[in-house]
Amino acid sequence: MVSNDNGLKPGAWIGILGGGQLARMLVMAAARLGFKTIILDPDAQCPAGVMANAHIIAAYDDVAAIEALSERVSVITYEFENVPCAPLDHANLACTVEPGTQALAIAQDRILEKAFFHSIGIPTAPYRAVETLGDVEAAFADLGRGILKTCRMGYDGKGQARVSSAADIDTGFAAMGGAPAIYEGFIPFALEVSVIAARFNDGAFAAFDVPENVHQGGILRTASVPAQISQATSDQAKAYAQTLLAALGYVGVAGVEFFVMANGALIANEFAPRVHNSGHWTEAACAISQFEQHIRAVAGLVPGATGRHSDCIMHNLIGDDVARLDEWHAVKNACVHVYGKTESRSGRKMGHVTVLSQLLL
Ligand code: ATP
Ligand code: MG
Repeated sequence: MVSNDNGLKPGAWIGILGGGQLARMLVMAAARLGFKTIILDPDAQCPAGVMANAHIIAAYDDVAAIEALSERVSVITYEFENVPCAPLDHANLACTVEPGTQALAIAQDRILEKAFFHSIGIPTAPYRAVETLGDVEAAFADLGRGILKTCRMGYDGKGQARVSSAADIDTGFAAMGGAPAIYEGFIPFALEVSVIAARFNDGAFAAFDVPENVHQGGILRTASVPAQISQATSDQAKAYAQTLLAALGYVGVAGVEFFVMANGALIANEFAPRVHNSGHWTEAACAISQFEQHIRAVAGLVPGATGRHSDCIMHNLIGDDVARLDEWHAVKNACVHVYGKTESRSGRKMGHVTVLSQLLL
């Protein structure tokens, strides 16, 4: 059996910045491995705070709070990419931060992210940085129809506007609210997939099977495994993810989103330096989930095997979907996961269900 004597031992403490559902699932995975967790999140009712061993209620730019957290844990990780980098870089931390802030800084800015993909040979949609109405007009003239996106703080399709014809330019530009934005040429993809993969501190790389992702209104609705893509496309997607994580010297799990063209060619959309919604099925269909894999990586343990035991479809429960839980409870082989959010709002991710289909073992 491979072992890693330098890894954290049961009883060790791990700090997590952010207390949403991703952190909640990281907390549960860490607990199974015998680790203790402290959440730092400003919301006293956040989904992970109530599950962790401790919760520091503080803002993400509260340097003193982050320093205090670092005194109590062996490693700090994070669950969302909009944690500001500067406090982490400038704090006097008593522990390491994994993944490092370089990945955070790049993933926080869509232009830096696209430029980074290009610098390592990974194709993306054609794009232009836009700040003025004239920039958008010029980008539309160059690239044709496309999507305007704010460079920073976008998620679940927020901060985006489609430009299908010249008539959409004014409203699209206004929707950016004066924030720096990117204009991306529209990619007429056949389908979307993602790679959920981990890199470990010795450079080991482990990717899960590639899910096929369906979005509606910019929000992920389902992730299905296997994806309807060739082995060559799947291998290429994993190879791109490996190139990206190696270039970042990354430690932990990341999600890399791709558009797949009709001929199987891949175009990278974006990456998330954290566990990813399109990897939630791993908790039900794999022995080792993406959450455990992330904890293993940041704790310095060895990689877990990534194989799946079942084909499956993961359905997100968004907004009022969560009111129909009884229907899901009655579905055979449906693994229901509810995040414990106190308030259901339209577009808010409230839980997910993974329905296992074909058993592979
Ligand atoms: P999330 O946080 O859910 O991943 P996001 O707000 O960061 O979303 P993107 O991933 O950039 O947004 O876009 C959301 C969805 O919009 C994509 O998954 C895809 O379906 C569609 N989309 C985005 N960019 C393009 C593009 N250039 N061409 C065609 N479709 C696109
Ligand atoms: Mg996305």
